[in-house]
Amino acid sequence: MVKAVVGANWGDEGKGKITDMLAREADIIIRYQGGANAGHTIVNNYGKFALHTLPSGVFYGHTTSIIGNGVALNIPLLIKEIEGLVERGVPKPKLLVSDRCQIVMPYHILFDAYEEERLAGKAFGSTKSGIAPFYSDKYAKIGFQVSELFDDAVLKEKLERVLVQKNVLIEHLYHKPALDAGELLKTLQEYRDMIAPYVCDVSAFLAQALKENKTILLEGQLGTLKDPDHGIYPMVTSSSTLAGYGAIGAGLPPYEIRQIVTVCKAYSSAVGAGAFVSEIFGDEADELRRRGGDGGEYDATTGRPRRMGWFDCVASKYGCRLQGTTDVAFTVLDVLGYLDEIPVCVGYEIDGEVTTDFPVTVKLEKAKPVLKNLPGWKCEIRGIKKFEDLPENCRRYVEFVEEQIGFPITMISNGPSRDDIIYRESPLKK
Ligand code: GDP
Repeated sequence: MVKAVVGANWGDEGKGKITDMLAREADIIIRYQGGANAGHTIVNNYGKFALHTLPSGVFYGHTTSIIGNGVALNIPLLIKEIEGLVERGVPKPKLLVSDRCQIVMPYHILFDAYEEERLAGKAFGSTKSGIAPFYSDKYAKIGFQVSELFDDAVLKEKLERVLVQKNVLIEHLYHKPALDAGELLKTLQEYRDMIAPYVCDVSAFLAQALKENKTILLEGQLGTLKDPDHGIYPMVTSSSTLAGYGAIGAGLPPYEIRQIVTVCKAYSSAVGAGAFVSEIFGDEADELRRRGGDGGEYDATTGRPRRMGWFDCVASKYGCRLQGTTDVAFTVLDVLGYLDEIPVCVGYEIDGEVTTDFPVTVKLEKAKPVLKNLPGWKCEIRGIKKFEDLPENCRRYVEFVEEQIGFPITMISNGPSRDDIIYRESPLKK
């Protein structure tokens, strides 16, 4: 049985916590897209952790963690992340890395930095992790698979060939020093030695696991609105953030994905540029940012303050639909307990007309939010275990959102830890 945990919005919805929670009952947890450019924050009995490449199941002894072929693999960062966990008392994870996974090359990171410098101020707000140059090379067919690290002759010939092209850009577009194939070869040999203990034919491993009725979790990074096809292009990420891509980025049959848990946060936040219709500013935003998440809404990888907004029913309905949602996990609801009234975005006004359908980017830029105020509940809801025990206005908030987005909210997260979860029967779940 394969389940996916994915985001409906711009990312940072709390997928890490939900994955960590569901991992208790899982055998295998897989990252299938993205790279170390975003982070998942997890709070458990070992402390608080920001994971960048490792799947959120690494804290359990019984699980196998997998980096699938769809991931942008930064080998030294992965090794550092493993060492960081072990230093803090977490048992060394059982980790497998796909032999088809491609490697973030040192020059991918350089290109991100050089391009940002060249665009000076007009950049997209890249995290400078080399993710866009990495995926460009992957699809231009000049990327390096992990499997290629194990043949020096092939590696040397390919490096020399690829560097001819890279050095033209480096010297003539960016006016920086050219790269040396010999030095890069040495770096890649170090990468090979670091990654060798983990390399595996992941799709074959998963096929066997399915035969043995294992439970497999696919962990998505970012959310629907950052998908290169269905998101707010061009302010998107470079690999698909959809559950459907999990089949490809892990190497699984698509029909095996039976449950798709889409994570929605009870308010909105976004990192990076791009349209954000329900965005708020000033003191109102500062207060929500400060109270948000677990210790404030600041990016787990870069520390940048996140942009804040009210819950967006239009974006979330669309986000859930594109994921193929079977269950919504509604997170961080406890944070809203300070508000007298809670605005929710229920429609977009575009050129004088109100719609509840999420538009393409050119129209999205013109959209203004249609807000509805719901009454707040003005109390702490952490520690509550049953839906019936939540304050009435809090239940109404959940029910209102569910009705607007049209997908069943079956899990409500009311705190950062594994046990802060309320399971709910939804009228929308047949
Ligand atoms: P991810 O990338 O989707 O995993 O999202 P983040 O790493 O940004 O996680 C959201 C933040 O909210 C983290 O700091 C979590 O510990 C925290 N968090 C998750 N669920 C809840 C919740 O229900 N309540 C509170 N207060 N914090 C939560």
